[in-house]
Amino acid sequence: MTELKDIQVEGYERVIRFRNDSNGLRGFLALHDMTTGPACGGIRLWRYASEEAALRDALRLSRAMTYKAVTAELPSGGGKAVVMLHAGLRRREAFESLGEIVDSLRGKFLTGPDVGVTEDDLAAAASKSRYVIHETTPGVGDLSHYTALGVWHGLRACLEFAGMSKARVAVQGVGSVGIALARILREQGMELAVADIKPARAEEAAGELGAEVIAPEEILSAPCDVLAPCALGEVVTAETAEKIQARIVCGSANNILADDEAGDALAQRGILFAPDYLVNAGALIRGVDYGVHKRPDSFASIARIYDRMRNVLQLARGRGLSTARVADELAEGELQKRRARRAQSLRG
Ligand code: NAD
Repeated sequence: MTELKDIQVEGYERVIRFRNDSNGLRGFLALHDMTTGPACGGIRLWRYASEEAALRDALRLSRAMTYKAVTAELPSGGGKAVVMLHAGLRRREAFESLGEIVDSLRGKFLTGPDVGVTEDDLAAAASKSRYVIHETTPGVGDLSHYTALGVWHGLRACLEFAGMSKARVAVQGVGSVGIALARILREQGMELAVADIKPARAEEAAGELGAEVIAPEEILSAPCDVLAPCALGEVVTAETAEKIQARIVCGSANNILADDEAGDALAQRGILFAPDYLVNAGALIRGVDYGVHKRPDSFASIARIYDRMRNVLQLARGRGLSTARVADELAEGELQKRRARRAQSLRG
């Protein structure tokens, strides 16, 4: 039996704490915004230090998903499910229970992969709900590749803006998206360096792509033109920003910046930052194209990330602000417009 408990959090449409003592499922589901459509966002499985840390992650990640959706001009909002990894978690049963929770929301939450979940986990959840999209959902395509492609389009805009054609790119984390991005970069003739806390992954990527392996603790300060964080979030703080040698920071990880000050620190050092929710929207765009618009592929929709990134770079330069602040302002402005339109239509 899964226990669900609603938690009131200001600015969020719904936040649910879930727990099932028979299979060890514990975590949070945050639905940040459903103004124009379902809250979309993946399922994260991670070893959190506490329930507070898991809740905080669900809140930050779901808000970023809303910003991602409005920035990508999608008729959806943001949500996220966070599952706590611990010794007593019986994964298949736990993910089936999570699938039941997702299903009980009747399409208000559309979900898919995020860090830590395997295809087996998602298949277990999807066995209980058609609102769980995963790699083997027929016709959806490779979601990690779509994400990587979006990051590449964003990076293209940054490289052009910085007047660079070829670059040495340091990829932090060669998991699903990191390796897909590294493959695209290789095809584009970029020089690569890779790091992963799983040494075998880094070695394998290096062997396949002719990349240099860098120790995980050295990747942020590695000599390179582009730093591509594709592991976890909050890797750039005001402090780590000082050590970065790259001219561009552009990767798939959600919430790369620990806070606004980290973005300011990068801007002050003249480092171009690609706001993560702007460039890593590929899987979300594909999910909405597939589920809502029934499009056979999403290459054209994802290519528009290039134009959005250029726009943010130009506005940031013109206004002397960090790209992160400019992108947040644009997203928040669009969200408020959507909410005002909904309020007006409800008033009739
Ligand atoms: P993943 O779990 O497949 O890969 C993450 C990789 O990073 C793993 O190989 C892991 O060992 C490595 N890693 C973790 N901490 C590290 C560290 N400190 N240094 C170096 N390597 C480290 O996850 P993924 O699906 O590839 O997602 C990567 C990032 O992109 C996440 O932040 C995720 O939220 C974000 N993202 C993913 C998608 C998607 O389509 N999968 C979409 C949008 C955003």
